[in-house]
Amino acid sequence: MDLLEQYDDFLVDEYQNFPQSNYVNILLLRKTESETIFRTENEGGLTKEFIRIGDSEETTQRVVMTKRKQVAVERRTGRELLRKHDQLFEGDKGICALNRNTPCGECIDCMLYGFAAGGGGAQKARVITNDAYSLLAAKKITDKRTFNALYDDGTMRDPETGEASASLGEVEYIKPETHFIDVQTLKDVTKEEFIYVLGNILRSFRYGAISSKIGKMKNYLLGIYFSDCELASNLELTQEMSQEIDSTEFPLATAEIKELAKEKMKELTSDVFGRVQMMSDDELTELLAETQNIYQSSEQVKDLLETATEKY
Ligand SMILES: [Zn+2]
Repeated sequence: MDLLEQYDDFLVDEYQNFPQSNYVNILLLRKTESETIFRTENEGGLTKEFIRIGDSEETTQRVVMTKRKQVAVERRTGRELLRKHDQLFEGDKGICALNRNTPCGECIDCMLYGFAAGGGGAQKARVITNDAYSLLAAKKITDKRTFNALYDDGTMRDPETGEASASLGEVEYIKPETHFIDVQTLKDVTKEEFIYVLGNILRSFRYGAISSKIGKMKNYLLGIYFSDCELASNLELTQEMSQEIDSTEFPLATAEIKELAKEKMKELTSDVFGRVQMMSDDELTELLAETQNIYQSSEQVKDLLETATEKY
């Protein structure tokens, strides 16, 4: 990908054991497109946190999309592709698998998102994520729904007695058209690894409660910032943006939010003590087109995955 040649300074030629302070920061806007539920394990209800906006006395509650929720989904998207192209390898205890303590330690997923093998061997994640906060207050973007528990035949009437279901449940959900702002940071990656992560983000659509038919999300790529230090956190960015949109009614206009996010990110990156090189809008369009081109061809995907793996 010729486009990335001018950013060679911030990418590595091949995997390095020692950190070198090369960062690629991916600015994303995530928007729910259906009812969505982000829950913490073992707890009912949505994950929420109180944050403070500007110098305000009062705190405001936001819904949180945890880093685990984001990464788990995007890793799976990537691993499906690795499986399809035979790029998940045999470890000591069998084929590379998530959550089964059998990482192979050799595939792109292990090397990029990190692993810890029981019998030694570990790789720190080079995809750095943070919890993302809803741009509007929790009370504006959530709602509750009561539901009647369904019987086996999918109706609310007992198939035996014909009586109406009496068991009522209540569930809190995030409304469609809720926005989250998010920066994903890659450290010391090759250009193939960068395209792989980008593909995982842009090809993931189901977040939150996986077992149900909810949780559809769309990810918008807003900007790529190459740097030699870490940039703004999700919290900082959310706080900066919220100062201007706090009084806005739900739902926010996606186009306006995109511009605001880019503007605030630019302000925050000008404050850092390091080098930052931002991709122009034209380059971003070209990057998206080239990435799409790769993913539309099975051969090119195979080539991408194999080249990335050869560099370990
Ligand atoms: Zn693996």
